[in-house]
Amino acid sequence: MDILDFVTKNMNPPQKDAIETLNGPLLILAGAGSGKTRVLTHRMANIIGQGAAAPDGILCVTFTNKAAKEMEHRIYKILGDMGIMVREQLWVNTFHSFCVRVLRSHITLLDYKQFFTIYDSSDQLSQIKKVMTALGINDKMYPAKNFQARISNAKMLGLTPEGLERSSKRLMDQKTVEVYRAYEVEMKRANSLDFDDLLMKTYDLFRMYPDVLKMYQEKFQYIMVDEYQDTNHIQYLIVQLLAKAHRNLCVVGDEDQSIYSWRGADIKNILDFEKDFPEAKVVKLEENYRSSANIVNAATAVIKNNSQRKDKTLFTSNPEGDLINVREERNEYDEAKFVAKTIQTMMNEGEGSYNDYAVFYRTNAQSRVLEEQLRTLAIPYRLVGGVRFYERMEIKDILSFMKLAINPADDIALKRIINVPARGIGKTTIDKIEEFSAQKNMTMYEGARNAVEQKIFNAGTTGKIRRFLDLMDELQSSATSFKLTDFYHIVLDRTEYLAALKKDESPEAQARIENLEELDNAIAQFAKERGEEASLISFLEEMALVSDVDSLDQEQNSVTLMTLHISKGLEYPYVFVVGVEENLFPSGRATESENPEDVEEERRLAYVGMTRARQKLWLTYTKMRRVWGQEQFNPPSRFIKEIPPSFISFKSAAEAPRFVNRYGDSSGDLYESKWGSTNSDRNKARNTGGDDFDTQDFPDYDGDGGGMNYSKGMRVRHPTFGVGTVYATEGAGDNLKVSVMFTDNTVKKFVVKYARLERV
Ligand code: ATP
Ligand code: MG
Repeated sequence: MDILDFVTKNMNPPQKDAIETLNGPLLILAGAGSGKTRVLTHRMANIIGQGAAAPDGILCVTFTNKAAKEMEHRIYKILGDMGIMVREQLWVNTFHSFCVRVLRSHITLLDYKQFFTIYDSSDQLSQIKKVMTALGINDKMYPAKNFQARISNAKMLGLTPEGLERSSKRLMDQKTVEVYRAYEVEMKRANSLDFDDLLMKTYDLFRMYPDVLKMYQEKFQYIMVDEYQDTNHIQYLIVQLLAKAHRNLCVVGDEDQSIYSWRGADIKNILDFEKDFPEAKVVKLEENYRSSANIVNAATAVIKNNSQRKDKTLFTSNPEGDLINVREERNEYDEAKFVAKTIQTMMNEGEGSYNDYAVFYRTNAQSRVLEEQLRTLAIPYRLVGGVRFYERMEIKDILSFMKLAINPADDIALKRIINVPARGIGKTTIDKIEEFSAQKNMTMYEGARNAVEQKIFNAGTTGKIRRFLDLMDELQSSATSFKLTDFYHIVLDRTEYLAALKKDESPEAQARIENLEELDNAIAQFAKERGEEASLISFLEEMALVSDVDSLDQEQNSVTLMTLHISKGLEYPYVFVVGVEENLFPSGRATESENPEDVEEERRLAYVGMTRARQKLWLTYTKMRRVWGQEQFNPPSRFIKEIPPSFISFKSAAEAPRFVNRYGDSSGDLYESKWGSTNSDRNKARNTGGDDFDTQDFPDYDGDGGGMNYSKGMRVRHPTFGVGTVYATEGAGDNLKVSVMFTDNTVKKFVVKYARLERV
């Protein structure tokens, strides 16, 4: 089949147009669920298939690592189905991971060492506090968090300390400049970058080294950006630089889904695209394939109340479906109970699997009662966000050992673990080492060694520091000589970290051990996926970039709980949005704000939340809710009132007579199961995601048979599982393993030497 026919199969005319249009600036502007992401994936496959650019000559940027991985898998699958093999690694990235890839190759030009560490927000805060102490700035008068936010804002605008100084007048701004400047010096000394630096340094690199920029401009013949409405200024600048030469830039987005202005996203980037590129072609996608007509119409009715938007249409040919369920409850407990009960009843009736259900809320704190009620009914759930796995103490401790082993200049890591587990090096000693190192303009690692050699401390303390340094020396050499998976165990063992936890019999210690086991699983999985490329540095890089949506256990069958912000781009057959009340959603900050744009952004969030649902949508609110220990009585959200009543099925449990059964459960009787969906409805819900890549566990299946060379995208046949596409390989020679995705979307992994695979 012709490549173009293949990649545009089942696409509607504007989708086809967007996939076919390769050259020049292209803006795809479309509402939720209209296939924007799908078009990008197929467009990229088209460029590769047509040979318009090499597979690694296309840059595709998206918002989360999860989205990036999914896109990459789909592209390999589409290409594989066309019989096209791809050997190169694709550049499907988030902005941050793209920048890491660039900086890893060129950061020495900016006078950093190649193995830099990436600081997360808590590392960054420690660093800022350290700087403030040195500058004698009082944390009580000027909270460190304020500086953190201001520095981050400056970087998102691409402002250096000098640039900020020029644009600022007030006292606090002057202080920010001072802290920012000293912070930069410290970060450089620690050979470390924060998240904003990843973007900012890449931008600096491109500006300061035109030949490097030119190389990337020439390399990336085509650039595509998904979720363009949520790019911030520095991301915008980077894209502009890269696309300048050839102008083959395709951006995709929906201004109605711009929900990250609080993180510096600038909706103007998408609204002004046609100004930046007057010759731009604009494609509008207007058909929603995701949701039932009632859901599409209700969401459209809500977003119409915003003024800051481009006029666009969204329709669907999907059936009307159920009405939107609006539910009133007395308080947040009843609300959570209602959600849990509804899921339980539907599951008992055979509606979908737990994976098909998602509950969204405005703030993280709302998850606790939901978790309680789900646990009570033994419903498996997965919390996305909240205290993130990689922010847990034990995980950060162990990763700090690993980081320090490859970047001895990382003072924040050193301070974190020099006395972990307790080895008698107290705070005064650590402070002294820090002071001493600063005087000598050394890293703390060098400073500590110097202090030992010069016997600055008494014999006891000197001995303790020396043992720590010996330990780190040993880990440094192990880091280079052992495989990642083995190195992890060496760290757990040699630092005596695990032993210390095992001695501690508290339940917390037990939970920490379990988390370390989970990290072991993560490392093993990473090593499996990356094969030979699974280095310590690449692992730490990946860990530093893990975002909220990329939790470890994607495959687990469970209900998903997450904030509305995180739900962007995802889809679920059944969606509950809870707490749809004034002063919570829209937030109190927005309702009280004088700037009407704040409520508009909340409304976009409502639009995002509602349009995640394929089949059924619940909006719940309570008459009373406890917030910070206080009872609050808020009216139902204006967003509910903006939905025409004809799309709504309303029920109140708050006023109806209540029957309390002997278990004290007071909501079950009021619940009516009127979900009346048929099997074919359910199948429809699943089928709308036709080309969804279904990630599954990779069972190790070793068959037998002869070995040969395999590469990504190759079509193969297995005697038992049929025809499939190779989408990952690892190892080499006798150890060569391939992951194959079969036509039913299951993934199996084989050791080639033993598998009875043949090329087709
Ligand atoms: P969002 O605005 O939420 O990011 P989107 O515009 O990126 O949504 P996609 O996620 O690409 O939309 O597509 C939504 C759903 O519709 C997916 O399940 C996708 O597979 C399906 N879809 C898109 N286009 C078509 C089509 N032409 N035929 C059938 N299904 C389609
Ligand atoms: Mg999308």
